[in-house]
Amino acid sequence: MRIQMTTPLVEMDGDEMTRILWQRIKDTLILPWVDLKTEYYDLGLPHRDETEDQVTVDAARAVARLGVGVKCATITPNAQRVEEYHLHKMWKSPNGTLRAMLDGTVFRAPIVVEGIRRVIPAWEKPISIARHAYGDVYKAAEMAVPGPGEAKLVFTGTDGQTLEAPVHTFAGPGVLSAQHNTDASIESFARSCFAYALDKKQDLWFSTKDTIAKIYDGRFKAVFEAVYEKEYKRAFEEAGISYFYTLIDDAVSRVIRSHGGFVWALKNYDGDVMSDMIAAAYGSLSMMTSVLVSPDGKFEYEAAHGTVTRHYYRHLKGEKTSTNPIATIFAWTGALRKRGEMDGIADLVSFADRLENATLTAVREGDMTGDLAAMKEGERVPALTSDEFLAAVARRMEEKE
Ligand code: NAP
Ligand code: MG
Repeated sequence: MRIQMTTPLVEMDGDEMTRILWQRIKDTLILPWVDLKTEYYDLGLPHRDETEDQVTVDAARAVARLGVGVKCATITPNAQRVEEYHLHKMWKSPNGTLRAMLDGTVFRAPIVVEGIRRVIPAWEKPISIARHAYGDVYKAAEMAVPGPGEAKLVFTGTDGQTLEAPVHTFAGPGVLSAQHNTDASIESFARSCFAYALDKKQDLWFSTKDTIAKIYDGRFKAVFEAVYEKEYKRAFEEAGISYFYTLIDDAVSRVIRSHGGFVWALKNYDGDVMSDMIAAAYGSLSMMTSVLVSPDGKFEYEAAHGTVTRHYYRHLKGEKTSTNPIATIFAWTGALRKRGEMDGIADLVSFADRLENATLTAVREGDMTGDLAAMKEGERVPALTSDEFLAAVARRMEEKE
């Protein structure tokens, strides 16, 4: 008997090679075992264009309503895509829309498997990165200073109050920038981070440069501390995990020497830089998962990579591609496990575990796509096509029955 679900998952289909994999993953690895219940939203670019992107808004609302979603990679249109797909408009990034509507934070975590080379061998366990998605240098006002003069920061309150701070007395030309953030956004970010760490049962690290930016980064530090003390401290203690604040330079050296297995929360720019560093150090974009967590505990799972366009064009020419489906499989298992936890369906949770184990066992036993075969330690193995790899995983699922 297939596993029964009670609440549907929000299923968001996508584009190109990942859309092809999406269907195959469902057919070969999920539907044989799970009586899958989903609310389906087609976020493929043609359908976003037909619906004037209403489908993305509807999908975001569905995640807010049902609590758990799984999303395929989607094209973020640029000028070339507008032409290629004859679009009415250069639609916004679906991920941006989902993030804004769910007020969420994106967490990226690598899938670690023995036998695949890591740049930093000590990182035995994954490090998840949480990047604040609002403000700072990404919303800064900046200007070129033409010559000598006085720069100051001025705030005018709606109540008429004014605040001023001197910035610099310029003796000649230079540059000037002003950044901002809001308590509301920092609080949401903090809640998402604490909720995610609790969900993963991993310590949460947070780092800024509050010794230099005493007021600016000092606020981030204080907000995290207050949210922790008031809302999460007890739950953290019960879960046996801790919250740890340290300066960013100290954090960087500790991260490098660590064995992994924690969540690292970072301001917008720091998170931008560090998430690419972490992804590169763990090996491959095709092994990086991503989950959007809202401050009120809604979860949207996906692979961190894109639609793998270059492989898709080869697929269209009739070639068999060796595209790695692992991050997309883990998006499905993440969502199914979360649905199982929320609805109290133990079989669904253990199915997610089994599917992840079968996937990693296949790789450990030498069945893998080309991207991983290139990073394998020891004996060389041939690169499997995506279909061959999915079949290898399905075989291990059957063996375990
Ligand atoms: P990409 O799809 O991530 O692919 C970049 C390259 O990384 C690929 O050409 C491939 O290298 C390798 N790669 C990525 N995922 C792989 C996998 N699963 N298996 C094997 N190799 C993999 O990034 P892109 O080409 O820059 O973007 C393509 C489209 O995706 C764009 O339209 C972009 O808007 C969209 N995108 C969407 C998301 C999202 O929905 N979350 C995220 C990023 C990009 P080789 O060609 O060398 O094999
Ligand atoms: Mg970046």
